Amino acid sequence: MKKKKEKTGKIIDEKAKEGKSMADKNKMRKFNKKRSGKRSRFSGKKDEKNMLEGWSPKTETGKKVKTLEIKDLDYILDNGFSVLEPEIVDFLITDLEQDLISLGQVKGKFGGGARISFRRTQKKTQEGNKLKFSCMAIVGNRNGYIGLGFGKAKETVPARDKAFRKARLNIFKISRGCGSWKCNCKTPHSIPFAVEGKEGSVRIKLMPAPKGTGLVVEKECAKILGMAGIKDVWSHTEGQTKNKVNLMYACEKALKKLISTKIKAQDIDTLTITEGKITEVKK
Ligand SMILES: [Zn+2]
Repeated sequence: MKKKKEKTGKIIDEKAKEGKSMADKNKMRKFNKKRSGKRSRFSGKKDEKNMLEGWSPKTETGKKVKTLEIKDLDYILDNGFSVLEPEIVDFLITDLEQDLISLGQVKGKFGGGARISFRRTQKKTQEGNKLKFSCMAIVGNRNGYIGLGFGKAKETVPARDKAFRKARLNIFKISRGCGSWKCNCKTPHSIPFAVEGKEGSVRIKLMPAPKGTGLVVEKECAKILGMAGIKDVWSHTEGQTKNKVNLMYACEKALKKLISTKIKAQDIDTLTITEGKITEVKK
């Protein structure tokens, strides 16, 4: 009898073991998936979603976003809540794009001078030259939201990560419209009025342009404006515009004036001013 019992027990055990092993395998698969997601951080959108699911917020606004109490970024920006976690922006804007601004240049005799996204600077010390890399990133959804961030570190990768993080934290919204004297369309394809920004010696003036003009600005500024969702603009710059850092900050300040300028109620209709994102117009 004892033997039989043992046998049945063994059989049951084996079955249980098989079940366990299958469950373990599934667990391992999930674990491996998570792991691979962590490794390839910038590869795809699905991995980013996994990252967001595993995100544990620390700040009050972060917790509210995670529990879906806040569903719109406008609510945060309008009420002046502080965004201290970059995941908040990732969570609220699903179609977020990111890009790097080319600040630096390649050094060298043969074909040097090509623009690169990292600016390399040196400091002389007793041991030798100490290098530092700085980098500027932009973040936006091509529909009314834009953020700019600057990062500096001893190596390129941390500098880039800092820049992306800061760009997300500095996100703000712009207002669009059509203030061009040549164009009477009532669609928000350009900016409603001319704005100016200044940083260091650089001044930039952005002016509304008629439909089909394109972005008539310096190349890196066009990146920012395109990311913000502006399609037509004319511009004028003064000062050392080869200093890209100052030029970018000047451009940012000019764009921030679009929101901070006080507007009369009658102009909102004539200039078709729309703040933030534009949902598809009914036809
Ligand atoms: Zn127009």
